[in-house]
Amino acid sequence: TNPEIERIKTALPGWVEAGKPFASEGKVASYIPELSKAPKEALGIALISKDGETIAAGDADLSFTMQSISKVFTLILALMDNGEELVFSKVGMEPTGDNFNSMLKLELVRPGIPFNPLINAGAITVSSLIEGADAADKSARILHFFKELAANDCLDYDMAVYRSESETGDLNRSMAYLLKDNGVLNGSVDDVLDVYFRHCSINVRCADLARMALVLACDGTDPLTGQTLIPRRYVQIAKTFMTTCGMYNASGEFAIQVGLPAKSGVSGGILTLVPGRFGIGIVGPALNAKGNSRAGVRLLETMSQELDWSMF
Ligand code: GLN
Repeated sequence: TNPEIERIKTALPGWVEAGKPFASEGKVASYIPELSKAPKEALGIALISKDGETIAAGDADLSFTMQSISKVFTLILALMDNGEELVFSKVGMEPTGDNFNSMLKLELVRPGIPFNPLINAGAITVSSLIEGADAADKSARILHFFKELAANDCLDYDMAVYRSESETGDLNRSMAYLLKDNGVLNGSVDDVLDVYFRHCSINVRCADLARMALVLACDGTDPLTGQTLIPRRYVQIAKTFMTTCGMYNASGEFAIQVGLPAKSGVSGGILTLVPGRFGIGIVGPALNAKGNSRAGVRLLETMSQELDWSMF
């Protein structure tokens, strides 16, 4: 038996209980109207070890949409489809320090490419680089890739969230038009946004995120099947962006307080990993001012301190 796993099994329910009250300091996202229905006080977590041991606590069975967490994996698929050189001619490698949906730097920086692939403008650009005959084909390839990574054939869209964002996503729409005018996006803006809104609305549970994260923790190979799903170099790139930009403009603070590669989404999900050891999925829909799960971040701060998980 592994003493770290035994320690987590014993302590996790208490850490989750201690994290839950922090949800009251946060707010559920409502700019996508459908997201406002999420339970504000919920907090759940699932971990999977490289040996396949699963530990869950709290509201781990809650399902929620991936939102920005999906951006990590569309980036990886775009890299697998096109290689580094092409992808990074369309999107940069630097954190912005701005909100995830900011248009500011697109207006100021020439030649107008997004700073990084994890802000909305960058992820919309990445969506345009996914190979496929048409928007439906591109979306199908993304969903198929996510199913493989999560080892869950049942992953599917939350159509209510998809429609809700598609009907209200004018800021993303305006960003996409600006990117097209800048020559960064080619083809139909509506098609690109359809691909983007769809992958944001893929429905998951904590265990799905944990399994996807485990593949990243193990350099692209699912340790439970032995299958290599992602070239190691692209995992390295993805984990670097998660560390520098994954928690939006709170990535610096998160690196200091937690010190693990992570990606959050506005539905309150967080995907993170302990290199070589664990994949972790968390949900806590109440967000702090920077758009990250308030209780989820708190729980990770506790775990990182207690288990000495910081990479730094
Ligand atoms: N679909 C969301 C949006 O584009 C994703 C943002 C997020 O999770 N931060 O606004």
